[in-house]
Amino acid sequence: MHFQPDFAFDSQAVRVRFAPGVRRCAGEEIARLGCSRALVLSTPPQADTALEMAQEIGDAAVGVFTKAAMHTPVAITAEAVQHARDVRADCVVAIGGGSTTGLGKAIALRSDLPQIVIPTTYAGSEATAILGQTEKGEKTTITDPKVRPEVILYDAELVRSLPVSMTVTSALNAMAHAAEGLYAQNRNPVSTLLAIEGLEAFASALPEVVKAPADLVARGTTLYGAWLCGTVLGQVGMALHHKLCHTLGGSFDLPHAETHAIVLPHAIAFNARAASRELEPISRIFGGNRPGTALREFAARMGAPLALKEIGMKQADLARAADLAAAKPYWNPQPVRRDEILKLLEAAWAGDEPAF
Ligand code: NAD
Repeated sequence: MHFQPDFAFDSQAVRVRFAPGVRRCAGEEIARLGCSRALVLSTPPQADTALEMAQEIGDAAVGVFTKAAMHTPVAITAEAVQHARDVRADCVVAIGGGSTTGLGKAIALRSDLPQIVIPTTYAGSEATAILGQTEKGEKTTITDPKVRPEVILYDAELVRSLPVSMTVTSALNAMAHAAEGLYAQNRNPVSTLLAIEGLEAFASALPEVVKAPADLVARGTTLYGAWLCGTVLGQVGMALHHKLCHTLGGSFDLPHAETHAIVLPHAIAFNARAASRELEPISRIFGGNRPGTALREFAARMGAPLALKEIGMKQADLARAADLAAAKPYWNPQPVRRDEILKLLEAAWAGDEPAF
């Protein structure tokens, strides 16, 4: 092992429960928080799941709001906060992926209502104090302890309905948190352990889920990976990979999880030049001695999209994307140069092997 001789570690008070069917304990968790009036949240396509949840909760569910949307538009948040006031909610139950979790966090930011999150993807937002919001097309990200959910219920039965293609891209989205966590400037021995265990969980269970999407043990293992990877995201700073995905999603409207899935091998290969020792666990888990290539091979085996051109990125926009990604300085193990970022993006656009 490589002992890290200097570090700081902050522990966070969050209650996490795992079990197939654990969503049915939401009522118990509401009472445990000292609450009795929950507003249940979801996206429009998951409205049925939210209604079932409200039924399950019974009298302690006082409303259902099903308009959560990608990147947490503030207009929808305003409507949800008003709804929470109208029904005199004293907590929220967010059931869904990162978009629904984001709405719960946005409500908590404005009202301090406690949150119970029941994730149905692997995005990991439930384990962080980070909130991205959009207003008039501008995305801003804040970190505030007020938005960190109090309770997370990981129910493998709920991710069974996640289509295999979304399962794979969402898993790679989660793995990206762990991969970048390995070389984070403010990493600590615990975040590194969590990142390694999270990557191992996906490496072992994702192929099983792809083969048998209803396998509850494999689904549970991937949710465990999502929790660990999300916790890493919540503990340490991210670098080039997240910056690139933020730019591509925010300025070119590319889909969140797919963008992460495609960019990850390229960003890791780029940084492996400066962080080869930190990235060793990736080679150990996924094979070979080039972590970017190993991740690309894993993604390809899982059937992930490999090219930005497949998900709507225009070749003509690559230069502007490189400008934006290299514009503001931020910490990254390998210095960020605009010409190299363009090379990275060109390979990711075409679906080629990583350029570095
Ligand atoms: P999402 O929540 O937008 O979900 C995508 C679609 O899949 C939605 O229509 C949703 O209803 C549907 N869906 C979700 N789970 C399903 C299931 N089990 N079965 C069937 N359909 C299901 O996607 P996401 O990738 O989970 O989240 C992306 C958002 O989360 C982005 O806005 C991103 O910025 C944010 N995010 C935030 C953080 C953070 O720490 N703040 C971390 C990760 C992601």
